Amino acid sequence: MKSMDLRCFTRDEIKEIMVLMEQPKYRGDQVFEWLFKGAESIDDMKTISKDLKDTLKKEGYYLSCLRTVKRIESAIDGTVKFLFELEDKERIESVVLPDKERTTLCISSQVGCACACAFCATGSIGFKRDLTTGEIVDQFIWAQKETGIKIDNVVFMGMGEPMLNWENVKKAIFILNDEKGFHFAQLRVTVSTIGILPAIKEMADKDYRFGLAVSIITANDEVRSKLIPMNKAYPLAEIVKMARYYTTKTERTIMFEYPIFAGINDSIKDADAFYKMMRGIDYKVNLIPYNSVVGREYTKPEIDKVKAFQKHLMEKGVKIFIRKEKGSDIAGACGQLAGAIEYKE
Ligand code: SF4
Repeated sequence: MKSMDLRCFTRDEIKEIMVLMEQPKYRGDQVFEWLFKGAESIDDMKTISKDLKDTLKKEGYYLSCLRTVKRIESAIDGTVKFLFELEDKERIESVVLPDKERTTLCISSQVGCACACAFCATGSIGFKRDLTTGEIVDQFIWAQKETGIKIDNVVFMGMGEPMLNWENVKKAIFILNDEKGFHFAQLRVTVSTIGILPAIKEMADKDYRFGLAVSIITANDEVRSKLIPMNKAYPLAEIVKMARYYTTKTERTIMFEYPIFAGINDSIKDADAFYKMMRGIDYKVNLIPYNSVVGREYTKPEIDKVKAFQKHLMEKGVKIFIRKEKGSDIAGACGQLAGAIEYKE
């Protein structure tokens, strides 16, 4: 018999399951609510009858749970990095980033990643598998439970390219958004991608309300292809065209992430080329000084150079921010997540 994780289903799907079990539909609401009220097994669902619990178990339903293998807290800024183990013993990382006004959860979407970006620790693991919808939702549940901190924002910037596990990522966002679940606003979720164009087009066409961030890095295709091999499939000109389509269609701003590397993309000439490329698009820029990854040839730029880059674009009217470094003592930044390697026992 096939086991089915109830956390992988939307509320409507759980209601349909109830109908098939000859139960009233409202039981579906009750079962769904328990998924977010701390239940770790079907037996924990206190308001559900024993008969229904038994039927659910007999039909192969269960609740996925994460095992916390390691929790490391930054002594500098309170960033908490989790290494979670999945049912098949694969491991993923999630990072809780508390700030003065809000707490952000950086979530993983895959075990490893197939994209092999040259600067990224996750990329060096290779692709193992997609996370299920339940495993994505679980990261939110476990991060809140383990830290006791209410999550205000979610960013898909952990391990994996979220738009290559698009169906499960979208479904997890809709489940978190459900009013009988966490009722977590879609606007507070950002999907960060290297630019998987069919999924971006879908975001524009279906008017999803969650945010979009695209790692752009440079205006030079040759340099970008070296850093992000996927650039060969989705080159800069296509990404820019899609960004224009997205912002025009949705009337929303797009965030361009600009990981900045010493000597690669940190000059004023690079800033000018970027500015020229983005003409006519409503965008913001998140400048991310690169955090060195062991074994990678890329290095962090001088902060003066980063500030000069920012100032130059600000003077042209670009909304550009330098991302505050978080969790530097625990390798908690994006592109540094590689649980399978870092903590292998
Ligand atoms: S940067 Fe993102 S897409 Fe590229 S290898 Fe790392 S996780 Fe994958």
